[in-house]
Amino acid sequence: MSDHSKTTGRGTLAVHAGVEPDPSTGAIMTPVYMTSTYVQEGVGNHKGYEYSRTHNPTRTALESAFAALEHGAHGLAFASGLAAMDTVLKTLKPGDEVISTNDLYGGSYRLFTTVFAHYGIVFHFVNLSDLDALRSALNAQTRLVWVETPTNPMMQITDIAAVADAVRGSGARVVVDNTFASPMLQNPLNLGADMVMHSATKYLGGHSDVVMGCLVTSDEHWADQLRTLQNSCGAVPGPMDCFLVLRGLKTLHLRMQRHCDNGARIAHHLTQHPAIAKVHWPGFPSHPGHEVAARQMHGFGGMVSFTLRDNNLDMAKKLVATTRLFTLAESLGGVESLIGHPATMTHASIPKEVREKTGVTDGLIRLSVGVEDVEDLIDDLNQALASATGIHG
Ligand SMILES: *Cc1c(COP(=O)(O)O)cnc(C)c1O
Repeated sequence: MSDHSKTTGRGTLAVHAGVEPDPSTGAIMTPVYMTSTYVQEGVGNHKGYEYSRTHNPTRTALESAFAALEHGAHGLAFASGLAAMDTVLKTLKPGDEVISTNDLYGGSYRLFTTVFAHYGIVFHFVNLSDLDALRSALNAQTRLVWVETPTNPMMQITDIAAVADAVRGSGARVVVDNTFASPMLQNPLNLGADMVMHSATKYLGGHSDVVMGCLVTSDEHWADQLRTLQNSCGAVPGPMDCFLVLRGLKTLHLRMQRHCDNGARIAHHLTQHPAIAKVHWPGFPSHPGHEVAARQMHGFGGMVSFTLRDNNLDMAKKLVATTRLFTLAESLGGVESLIGHPATMTHASIPKEVREKTGVTDGLIRLSVGVEDVEDLIDDLNQALASATGIHG
């Protein structure tokens, strides 16, 4: 089952990708190979596994699943999404430049500006929905264009194919952080990107029980370089974590369908609510990225954010503390619904003036809509909005 052609359905891939029956027992699920090392019959005479930093069979199965799901040739798993990013950035040299979006995940922004900026890498943050802004930042030193779409938390959309076209021939490569969409809703390599990155902590794992990252590329030279760094630096996930994500992947298509359905219902409900000024969700025809999202995605996902009419910090704090089903927590993409306040949580490391320019104001609330019954989720938001703002939906 490992040779899945590009025409295999996404749901079939989610169930089967990467997994072969265990050769010694026939176990249908990949065993958790809890081992650090592998017995050699003689010097250099081994079965392809020498030491678990370098390779572990449970990780190998997961890495091939990642590659298959993103239609790439090479998949790599890391101890976290940021460890995956860190590895990509370590392929750069001082003086190299990176262009990224001005509405970037807070942890990515921190990695770029507080870690890699010190090693002489230069970062430019532009609105990647604006191709002229991208072209004017692009120069002979640009090595990477780091795209996130939809963005976190403003749900801005970048046209991946248009960015890949604009960058082609410049010597820079396009990486897409595909965490928000998951491979079920968007496949950047098919749109011309050179690499896909995921925080597998989110939808891929899907059950809020593991932290992991992944990279997928079809560029063999780059993949070799990344494998060397993966082994040299050692930020690899353990076998139990790999097993958990392998299991999570099997229901990815079902979960994403429900996240999309629930997300759409809630986005529409919230636009009718008098306490809310604006709902940020790419499924609305009025969303500036709607046309591109409809073209490059297979669904609009379960992430919805909204701005309170009174852009008020105390009201926002009260709201996120008053929901009962939507749990106040960082992270996203699990089966349970979460609510967050980006300005004080995920985006607290981004300076106020910087975050407010992209809309991350004190009255912005982010929802990761889970797979519960949507009527219960709507009731929960209604009661919390009424108690925080005094306004009934
Ligand atoms: C969570 C997240 C990351 C970082 O991943 P970790 O697994 O937390 O290290 C990167 N990008 C996006 C969009 C994320 O949501």
